[in-house]
Amino acid sequence: MSELLSVFLRLLLLFKVVTPVTFRHHRYDDLVRTLYKVRNECPQITRVYSIGRSVQGRHLYVLEISDYPGTHELLEPEVKYVGNMHGNEVLGRELLLQLSEFLCEEFRSGNQRVTRLVQDTRIHILPSMNPDGYEVAAAQGPNVPGYLVGRNNANGVDLNRNFPDLNTYIYYNEKHGGPNHHLPLPDNWKSQVEPETQAVIQWMRSFNFVLSANLHGGAVVANYPYDKSIEHRVRGFRHTANSPTPDDKLFQKLAKVYSYAHGWMHQGWNCGDYFPDGITNGASWYSLSKGMQDFNYLHTNCFEITLELSCNKFPRQEELQREWLGNREALIQFLEQVHHGIKGMVLDENYNNLAGAVISVSGINHDVTSGDHGDYFRLLLPGTYTVTATAPGFDPETVTVTVGPAEPVLVNFQLTRSIPQASPLRRAPSGGRKSKVKVQPRAARKKKMERKQPWRGPA
Ligand SMILES: [Zn+2]
Repeated sequence: MSELLSVFLRLLLLFKVVTPVTFRHHRYDDLVRTLYKVRNECPQITRVYSIGRSVQGRHLYVLEISDYPGTHELLEPEVKYVGNMHGNEVLGRELLLQLSEFLCEEFRSGNQRVTRLVQDTRIHILPSMNPDGYEVAAAQGPNVPGYLVGRNNANGVDLNRNFPDLNTYIYYNEKHGGPNHHLPLPDNWKSQVEPETQAVIQWMRSFNFVLSANLHGGAVVANYPYDKSIEHRVRGFRHTANSPTPDDKLFQKLAKVYSYAHGWMHQGWNCGDYFPDGITNGASWYSLSKGMQDFNYLHTNCFEITLELSCNKFPRQEELQREWLGNREALIQFLEQVHHGIKGMVLDENYNNLAGAVISVSGINHDVTSGDHGDYFRLLLPGTYTVTATAPGFDPETVTVTVGPAEPVLVNFQLTRSIPQASPLRRAPSGGRKSKVKVQPRAARKKKMERKQPWRGPA
């Protein structure tokens, strides 16, 4: 009898371990429960936090997955996924819940690839940026006419048209000279954006995100910046113009990584549209102003693309499992892309971390900066680059570096003061004390080990 019981218990345990987040649509309460379920299943690698509230007071919850949740480890990049920005585009929300559960379960079962990803990356997942819109769309449900119901937030605002427009400034600067990165927010920006947008902007400013994807629906394509057309005259509905960023080749590569790892996106023909390789420049599809991906690139160090993941914005429940299987590998591979290019510390001669130092790559008119802890990350395609680090009051330092196809190359900078003691030094905040960081290899550092169809409207 005891043997039978033990077999039964083992079966029960097995069943419990392999029980996934079920393939169903998750209303707000269900979504919150699911995030905390993952949190409770994998407490050592997860944390749930809120970045703010929607118009109707729903929390914008983020699940963080990392080996030291709540902590930025030096030289460990931060990456994010954002889902359900348009409340009626629901697949991303469900995929991100599946992904959360998947990373937790695979980490627990010792999957080497997932373990490595979790140890080397700090992953932030916001399954729903527009929980109010979702509730409106979900109340109507799938298979009901009303293509745009629930798209906007509770104030009727399209959140992907609600970020400060920095493109106008960068296009001016490209022609006439001026900063090519970290364009400032307008003084009164908070009064110009919705609560959800404000929460996300503050989130973007409080972590040094390196890579991101924003999950939408209504087409199947990986869309990369810029979204806003460079050409004034062609702005507007159904007018298009390829509007590449200085990092165009890199963005194309990031988009292709997703489309080719996706079950069918790369085939190009989807939902009655054709996109070669399953990717498109945003503005060459249709121009939009005040979108989130352009804002990421122009205001922060983060490279974001927009993933359109389903023809049907609100797929039937029975389609969710197929969609998860079609997206799972792509969602993982995209996260892994953050481990490319170069990264390192920027220090002064006394090994103080220099925050906000500018890292320039010759030939690419878009700089990145070191984060609050003095570490920087610069995504790059394989090749040989001339890289310069500068900080106010210090002599620039230039190195030549060859980037391969796999691991990021560690390139540290130690800057010397150009005029000793003359300029105020911006030190990285470290709880009041000067942090003297000697860069060591990770192993030693770690203690352990819609072509927009007019009848369908925008995606
Ligand atoms: Zn959308």
